[in-house]
Amino acid sequence: MAGTIEGLPETGVWIDNASHPAASGETFATLNPATGEVITRVASGDEPDVSRAVDSARAALRNPAWGRIDPHERARLLWRLAELIEENADELARLETADNGKTWFESRKVDLPQVVSTFRYFAGMADKVHGETIPVPGPFMNYTRREPVGVVGCIVPWNFPLSLASWKVAPALACGNTVVLKPAEETPLSALRLGELAAEAGLPPGVLNVVPGFGTKAGAALVQHPDVALISFTGSTETGRLIVREAAGTLKQVSLELGGKSPNVIFADADVGAAIRGAASGIFYGKGEVCAAGSRILVERPVYDEVVDALAERAASLTPGDPMARETRMGAIVSETQLERVLGYIDAGRREGARLVAGGRRHDPGGRGFFVDATVFADVTPEMTIAREEIFGPVAAVLPFDDFEEGIELANRTIYGLAAGVWTRDVAKAHRFAAAVDAGVVWVNTYNRYDPATSFGGFKASGSGRELGMKAALEKYTREKSVWVSLA
Ligand code: ADP
Repeated sequence: MAGTIEGLPETGVWIDNASHPAASGETFATLNPATGEVITRVASGDEPDVSRAVDSARAALRNPAWGRIDPHERARLLWRLAELIEENADELARLETADNGKTWFESRKVDLPQVVSTFRYFAGMADKVHGETIPVPGPFMNYTRREPVGVVGCIVPWNFPLSLASWKVAPALACGNTVVLKPAEETPLSALRLGELAAEAGLPPGVLNVVPGFGTKAGAALVQHPDVALISFTGSTETGRLIVREAAGTLKQVSLELGGKSPNVIFADADVGAAIRGAASGIFYGKGEVCAAGSRILVERPVYDEVVDALAERAASLTPGDPMARETRMGAIVSETQLERVLGYIDAGRREGARLVAGGRRHDPGGRGFFVDATVFADVTPEMTIAREEIFGPVAAVLPFDDFEEGIELANRTIYGLAAGVWTRDVAKAHRFAAAVDAGVVWVNTYNRYDPATSFGGFKASGSGRELGMKAALEKYTREKSVWVSLA
């Protein structure tokens, strides 16, 4: 199977615009999940490497070439980085697909263009970061300054390695911060390449450092470091809880974009064909390894059978295959551990009495690689494990409901609150649903839409803080200072 990147050299820790071996000299293997083969070995960062990266990021804040840079020039550098990413999009997409198992279609046609537009959008913001003048009583004037928070630690997961890195790195740099980026141990390659491209774009040394390594080592060291002002984390809810604890000692700010069990709600008055297509891509896109995956498909009774049958049919037509092949639309699960986890949930669905209508098995093209068939369970009840826990795989749980109130009640019956979809032709019903659902993002008659100009993030156990959007970026990546001046 294609996908292995021939002759990719071992990669180091990226600090001060140069590659270094880890202080310990240790490396770890990164695998191609479509073949189970080692792509290359990567330096295993730990506390000394994180400290070195943070020192470099602190020095870069003081370096006039970054700390006092003309904001128009900062914008130009970020725009240049966007251009370099675009010029190297084929290579970056190959790294992403080899490392993660996602299809070439997703890496090259969806993720990479999004990464480029994210850097472009935030390049546009870089010279528009400013405070306000506030009218105050008496002979005084008051104004606010929006300053960079300092060194930002960005910790990202393996499902959208470069996209999610760009969601953090671009706004953090636009606001004048410096960054230490910790990619997931499963997928470090595209982030390391981003570090090189940032240097090529002209970002001064230390502005963007990349420390690959394990979460409990490099990740924990970054969160605990006293000179890191803010941790911007995307990952599982479980790890989010650990991070809050790790951060408590230094009282740094923490922004969390965590897991979900998002409802995709189909009312009987919907354009049912569009709803079925949206529900299928809402759970199967990205192998379901998507924090906002519409993993609970709630269907109003009159169209329930029709939706279940059509979803089963669509799932059966989504054969997993070589992620590098241009026509493949379902790639490999990121790792063997994740594959086992997904299969475990499928077993739980069967055991607890859900009706399996599609998939349900490991897919085995030639005995190699970590593939699973697109799976649909019907007649799921809200108490079942597969209706409650985030699976992070291509497994849909379909539940019937009888009216609007029950639909909303089921939609909100979860510890999570990341995203929600609603399908109806009734405009008032759509808005009533959008207002009543506990989710940070609501999609009406569509699903999985993202844009750098609008915010993304969750309620409840799906996290706090927002990604993307000018306002959210300003609040998260700057600190506000209020200045009083006597006019007497
Ligand atoms: P998943 O469960 O999807 O693999 P995680 O939430 O465990 O995702 O991982 C997301 C990111 O968090 C990865 O970069 C991982 O290395 C990192 N990480 C894991 N554990 C910790 C930790 N205790 N402290 C800091 N970072 C961590």
